Amino acid sequence: MCNELSPPAELQALVEQLGARDWKVAEAALAARGEAGIAAAIWGLSHPNVRVRVGCAGFMDHHGTDACFAPLRQVALHDPAPSVRRMAIHSATCQECKPCPLTGDLVGLLDEVALRDPNRRVRLHALWGLHRPQDPRAVAALKSILEEADPELQIAAYHALVSQDPTYQGDPIGLHVRVALSDAHKSERLKALWGLRRLPQDPRARAALEQILRTETDPRLRSYAHHALKQQDPNYKAAFDAKARERGIAAARTRKEF
Ligand SMILES: [Zn+2]
Repeated sequence: MCNELSPPAELQALVEQLGARDWKVAEAALAARGEAGIAAAIWGLSHPNVRVRVGCAGFMDHHGTDACFAPLRQVALHDPAPSVRRMAIHSATCQECKPCPLTGDLVGLLDEVALRDPNRRVRLHALWGLHRPQDPRAVAALKSILEEADPELQIAAYHALVSQDPTYQGDPIGLHVRVALSDAHKSERLKALWGLRRLPQDPRARAALEQILRTETDPRLRSYAHHALKQQDPNYKAAFDAKARERGIAAARTRKEF
C-alpha cells in the first residue's frame, strides 16, 4: 500500500474514513480536493479493507470522472467481494447521482458482468443497467441469459430486452409462470404473480395459479395468486363472486334473525 503512487497520508486517512460510519465528512473533504481526491479514491479501490473499497466505489457514484471508469471496471470484474463489485457497477452505470455520466464502454462491461459474475445480485444489478442505451451487444447478451435456468435472471433479462427493443415479444407468460412457481425470493414470486394479472389470459397461467392455490401456504402468495386467477379465469371469478354474494345474503339473514 506504500509506493510512489500512494496519496499523501492526510488523503489516505480520508479514504480510509470512507469505509467508516462518518464517511460523509470524508466524502465532502475528498471531493473538495478535486483531482487529488479522486486519485486518492482510485488508490483506495485496492485497499485491503472491503468497507473502504465499497466506500471508494460509492464516492465515485457522486464525484466520479472519466478517470474512474477503468479502475471501476477492473474492480467490477475482479474484486473478490460481491458488495464491492456491485457498488462499482452502480457507480459506473448510474447517471442520476453524478453531474455527467462517465465515458467508457459501459455496455461491454455490463455484458460481461451480467453473463459471468458468480453472484446473482451482482448480475441483476448489471441487467438493470442494460435497459439502455440501445446496443446490439446488449441484446445478444440478454437473449443468451434468457436461455439460462435461473428464472430471476431471466425475468430481469426479459425486461431489459423489452426496453432495448420495444418490438421484442418473447414469452412473458412462460417466464412469469416459471418465476411464480420457482423457489426464487418471495418478492420476485410476488412480482411475477402481479405481472400475471396484467398479461393476456393463458391456460399455463391458470394451471400455475391453481397449483399455487392448492399447494402454497404463504398467505401473500395465495392472495396474489387468487387475484391473478380472477383476471386469468373468468369462471373462477364468477364462482368466487357468486360465493361472496351467497355469504353476503346469509350474513344479512343472520343479522335479521337476531
Ligand atoms: Zn447512483
